[in-house]
Amino acid sequence: MKPVEILKRLIRLSHELGREDRRLAILGEGNVSADLGDGTFYVKASGSQLATIEATGFTRVNFAPVLEALNHPDQIDEAVRNVLEACRVDQQNKLPSVETFLHAICLKEGGAKWVGHTHPVSVLGILCSQLGAEPFRRHVFPDQIVVCGRHLAVVPYVDPGIRLAVALRRSVRRFQVEHGVAPKVILMVNHGPVVLGQTDREVLNTMLMLDKWASVLLGNYSVGEPRFLDGKNSDRIESRPDEHYRRRAIGKLR
Ligand SMILES: [Zn+2]
Repeated sequence: MKPVEILKRLIRLSHELGREDRRLAILGEGNVSADLGDGTFYVKASGSQLATIEATGFTRVNFAPVLEALNHPDQIDEAVRNVLEACRVDQQNKLPSVETFLHAICLKEGGAKWVGHTHPVSVLGILCSQLGAEPFRRHVFPDQIVVCGRHLAVVPYVDPGIRLAVALRRSVRRFQVEHGVAPKVILMVNHGPVVLGQTDREVLNTMLMLDKWASVLLGNYSVGEPRFLDGKNSDRIESRPDEHYRRRAIGKLR
């Protein structure tokens, strides 16, 4: 896909994620990125709004300096800003989001081509509670396993920026060792989810299903306890061939 087409799709994905009625992100919250396959990626610029973003709201960034900065997680804010300025392919572009580091990890180590991060009211309703990410470790209905994956990765609260990206990298690596695949969803406690996709559509679908899952859980807790599926049934859904077919079909939905 040509960079201009990727940019067009990133704008569309941003507008979908930023829709006011979906309550996934308001104001400058959230960001998206996509790998261009040539050692660079597009990421939302700092201060842009998902709902209204245009082409100038994105910055093309080199992977190398962003990943290199992760070797020095204790850099002061000024040094981080220098990295964000220097990593731009075109110095005329705006400063990329401070969450550029996190996107670089998802695209390089998480095997994603497209990444979306939001702060949904529903998901934060649980992630910011005393339960944290615990309710998401089990399932309450089959489609969440089909779309979001059998297991989610979790990152404890860390100050956004390089240190958060390092914590997220640790979580992604541990997940890959435990499950043999990359996660589709990473939950950052007291912050929000990151969704990893092979297509722009997959990122949107997964985010919408995660939002529904969280809303259902909130409903369950409001009338008592969720009736969780047992692990065996969840594993079965994950491995059923017809569910694999359904997953591919959902990924192609336009
Ligand atoms: Zn965020």
